[in-house]
Amino acid sequence: MTVAIHPIVSPWGRFGLYSFFLDAPEPAIVDTGVASSPSEGMAPALEQLGRRIEDVRWILLTHGHIDHIGGAHALWELTGRRAEVVISEADAPLLRSRRAHVDLYAAVRRQYLHEPDGIEKQTAMVAGAIAGELEPTVLVRGGETLSLGGGVTVSVRAIPGHTAGSVAYVVDGQDDVFVGDAVQVHGAANGFPGYEDPDAYRESLEYLRDVVRPRHLYLGHPYRTSAGVPYGVGLDCEQARHALQESLDIEARVGAAASRHLPQVTDSPYSPFAGVAEELGYTGDPTLEPSPFFTTLHGYRTEVLSTHD
Ligand SMILES: [Zn+2]
Repeated sequence: MTVAIHPIVSPWGRFGLYSFFLDAPEPAIVDTGVASSPSEGMAPALEQLGRRIEDVRWILLTHGHIDHIGGAHALWELTGRRAEVVISEADAPLLRSRRAHVDLYAAVRRQYLHEPDGIEKQTAMVAGAIAGELEPTVLVRGGETLSLGGGVTVSVRAIPGHTAGSVAYVVDGQDDVFVGDAVQVHGAANGFPGYEDPDAYRESLEYLRDVVRPRHLYLGHPYRTSAGVPYGVGLDCEQARHALQESLDIEARVGAAASRHLPQVTDSPYSPFAGVAEELGYTGDPTLEPSPFFTTLHGYRTEVLSTHD
């Protein structure tokens, strides 16, 4: 049988957050937005489709970022706590604990953002955006197959880089591939691609392009092309190949620029990576959360340090 895929958008500030409803015998939702998304975005969207949110049996989380797991607890409650909650082992701490998100901010972004009240702001933000701390019922690492009833199966593929535990969910036989934020192209609103581990990000993009070869590729945000035009969140085969190649090309440019400019503290808002911003012509606000400029360049900086050890 063919499983129909329905994108669902839930509002959040200046963003729309995307989830996907898989209309399988055991219905699934990929990614959950923030705390308000299940009641404000998903429940009305499913009602329009003639489906009920309490019948959802699988909550498939592509990675642990707030705007993907924030609604998981609320959605799980709406299913009468009957849905399986699936996330990778590596990102599971971000589902189990709000504090893990603040710790991540403290470990990386805080050292570049110089916000005296940054910890307090992050703590308040995660308190509002994450509906509740939740123990996953299914931990994955890539390689697993999940059965959604009626012979419908979903394969899990490890695609680390954006986060350590990013995974793709592939509807077997129809090659619909849900990647969350693992294919960044030029990034979303901030205009810069965000990934924690550059080497892993590049390898995952090549794996998606050469091995997984999506027939349809579903993205977590409407990422933009080099011309600033957003891709939709549902890409056909041709667009998917293009988005994957463009993501690889951009990673190569960012990596080359990062290797040419040693971190140097200046009074630029891009400090200590002002040279990289200048070479790339990046003029976006580097402090705008979630600050992909700093997350990504910190990743290259860490790689350089580890090869010199
Ligand atoms: Zn993300």
